[in-house]
Amino acid sequence: MNDVNSNPYFKLFLKQRENQYAVGNRSYKERRKILTQLQRAIEVTYRTQIQEALQKDLGKPVVETELTEIFAIIGDIKHAKKHLKQWTQKQRVETPMSMLGSSSYITYEPKGVCLIISPWNFPFNLTFGPLVSAIAAGNTAIIKPSEMTPHSSALMSKIIADVFLEDEVALVQGEVEVSTQLLKLPFNHIFFTGSPNVGKIVMEAASKHLASVTLELGGKSPTIVDKTANIDKAAKKIMWAKFLNCGQICVAPDYVLIDESIKTQFITSCKKWLKSYYNDHPKISDSYGKIVTDKHFERLNSYLENARTLKATFEVGGETDSASKYIEPTLISDLKPEAKLLEDEIFGPILPIVTYENLDEAIKYINSKLRPLALYIYSKSKVNTRKIMNNTRAGGTCINNSVLHYANHNLPFGGVNNSGIGKSHGFYGFQSFSNERSVLKQHTFGVTELLFPPYSGFKEKLAR
Ligand code: NAD
Repeated sequence: MNDVNSNPYFKLFLKQRENQYAVGNRSYKERRKILTQLQRAIEVTYRTQIQEALQKDLGKPVVETELTEIFAIIGDIKHAKKHLKQWTQKQRVETPMSMLGSSSYITYEPKGVCLIISPWNFPFNLTFGPLVSAIAAGNTAIIKPSEMTPHSSALMSKIIADVFLEDEVALVQGEVEVSTQLLKLPFNHIFFTGSPNVGKIVMEAASKHLASVTLELGGKSPTIVDKTANIDKAAKKIMWAKFLNCGQICVAPDYVLIDESIKTQFITSCKKWLKSYYNDHPKISDSYGKIVTDKHFERLNSYLENARTLKATFEVGGETDSASKYIEPTLISDLKPEAKLLEDEIFGPILPIVTYENLDEAIKYINSKLRPLALYIYSKSKVNTRKIMNNTRAGGTCINNSVLHYANHNLPFGGVNNSGIGKSHGFYGFQSFSNERSVLKQHTFGVTELLFPPYSGFKEKLAR
């Protein structure tokens, strides 16, 4: 207990804990109002500043900021506002005949005081997205955004202080040490978005207080292109999904598994689309971003060096510039199985292309690795698609597209095992931040009265 008392965030935590029932008892209409205030801050008051912060932190093109950050959060808010009444209503369920005289329902009550830890790749989206669910479900929240995107974190701190009182929502900035201190507090729920390694640290810390967790993690998301696929369309979509945000997306295609017979044609199409997206010089394209930090640049550069040492084929790209943290969109084939690019989650603009001779081989390859957050299938064959679906596991899948399943509020978003635990978005996010409280209400005399002792006359009672 002393340990908790000396925790720098304990006072803040206590304030929220004391306020949790006041916040939790807000009607759905009051929750809607709060969401509208947040919406106004993002959509109107701070819109330009958000664009500027992301330009500084990630070199993010304004259109990308609009689509993947602002539009995405506003979509989350609008969806929650539209459905809040229905989500917060009692959900009646059947009561068995043996409990005649009673009724049953589920009520979604807030978990209480929640911790949201977010990453740097979509700083606003991945911080405010979970926050929308937390507010919709009636929780208080303390947020710890990433230290890697300081301009975005500073601006989010301003927005939060502008919209909320600190006994309902507060944001604390800082590095790992701040997370470590926060994780010592007895939160009711922890929503973490980040790497699987840190996810394990979070889960271990949560276990000390048996806090529930939602872990939105990462991993290597495979993309299969079979020989029935529309090769050009597949290349067009994969090149967009892979190089958006410079490949720094949890659901980016990590590697392509392609039927050997169509590899050359696929690469030719990829080159065509890359040129049309970023011209001949992505470095000066206003549609292409940069790597977030020197550390991540060095990590990605070391993958390229490793591929060169192993004499892989650079089909496209390979150019880098440490000063501007630039890595050219890069496609690499003929990688040896031990290549770093085939082991670690890449999280950058490098796409390995691995060939297969038959689909079973591709499936075996996927299943030799940890379960991915996303798996993409490009195929016109229903038989092949079903075969891949039935013999693999993944958090989510797009068929003949990539990434877009993330944007449908009606689909639960999340991973499986190494790529995550629990789901987010829409109702599923609301559910993650709610306790499904079971209620059985006895109205009149019921047959359950027969269960009371003494048991000696049980058969007679039943026969009466
Ligand atoms: P990260 O795990 O390094 O950091 C995430 C957050 O955890 C940051 O706020 C950071 O300060 C904090 N943190 C880091 N080390 C910590 C520690 N030892 N103890 C406690 N807290 C710690 O991840 P990242 O580099 O910010 O993001 C990249 C990873 O996140 C990738 O693996 C990616 O796939 C994943 N990701 C997943 C999703 C998703 O929705 N599933 C979305 C974006 C990113």
